[in-house]
Amino acid sequence: MPTQTSAAGGTTSPLGGGAGRGALLGAPAVLGSPSVDGVAGMFGATVPDGLEAPTAPRRRTGAGLDGLAVADGLDRGDTLAMMRSGELGSVHSWELVTAVDGPGTRLTVFLSGCPLRCLYCHNPDTLAMRDGEPVTADELLARVRRYLPVFRATHGGLTLSGGEVLQQPAFAARILRGAKEMGVHTALDTSGFLGRNLTDTMLRDTDLVLLDVKSGDPETYLRVTKRPLQPTLDLGRRLAASGLPDGVTADAPVEVWVRFVLVPGLTDDERNVGLVARYVAELEEIRPGTVGRVEVLPFHQMGRDKWSALGRDYALADTEPPSPELTERVREQFRSHGLTTY
Ligand code: SF4
Repeated sequence: MPTQTSAAGGTTSPLGGGAGRGALLGAPAVLGSPSVDGVAGMFGATVPDGLEAPTAPRRRTGAGLDGLAVADGLDRGDTLAMMRSGELGSVHSWELVTAVDGPGTRLTVFLSGCPLRCLYCHNPDTLAMRDGEPVTADELLARVRRYLPVFRATHGGLTLSGGEVLQQPAFAARILRGAKEMGVHTALDTSGFLGRNLTDTMLRDTDLVLLDVKSGDPETYLRVTKRPLQPTLDLGRRLAASGLPDGVTADAPVEVWVRFVLVPGLTDDERNVGLVARYVAELEEIRPGTVGRVEVLPFHQMGRDKWSALGRDYALADTEPPSPELTERVREQFRSHGLTTY
């Protein structure tokens, strides 16, 4: 997904995620995975050892698993047992990005597997668990550790995306815990559909949730994703309430960035956008400060080639990206509810 220059001067990713990036549309031109030269820019002429990152030319999934050891050679029984315990996960790719997927420079890891079937999915190659490779939690955490100097220098951290992160809750929980033990800022990019898999322990290890609200109208949500909207709404309310004085994250309330993918003719009607805006405003009423921002992500055709390569019908093949005027109209709808919107 092409990156948009935000009003704040940063960049926002139209993406989708956890939908996240899976849905991403519009990728960041300036971001993507910085090359070693890019990392060097953060440290002057000195590049910490081992900061080579796969290069992703466009904002979809990362460029691959470069540098991560794949745990092949395990038999089926060991694989299943280790996945159940969270020692092993199915990982699609990773990349290093700046100004998307959370504050600072992020190590974004895309996990495989997703229960949704979004019409505009830009990462249809992450929807099945078998689309990823087996990687141990220890291996991934070793990669996180290597980037600690980058995270400290940029106030960045780790973002788990997908696919749908919460389809592999045990693995995600281990990664979040390990990252927090290193003092790393953590973000989860999710559609919220599997919010029931987010335990209170995981919540306490999460600083930011990138919540992809694909529609405010249940019927439209069903048409877009083939799944019901309610679990997403429930998760957002739970995240807001968890930071109340008697909540499980009262001492460190989780922040939420809401992402809304704007697709002409699908999600753009005023009533639908208004429902999303009112829902987000409700989260702010539950706990003021819950929603740090709303990102309106303009649909883009960057995933079309993947659908074609997979031999699947792409329902939005003829859909145009939204005009700047439409995008601004929708952003204004969110702003009219007092929400910080990019
Ligand atoms: S199908 Fe899954 S990965 Fe694709 S956009 Fe939807 S939530 Fe994201």
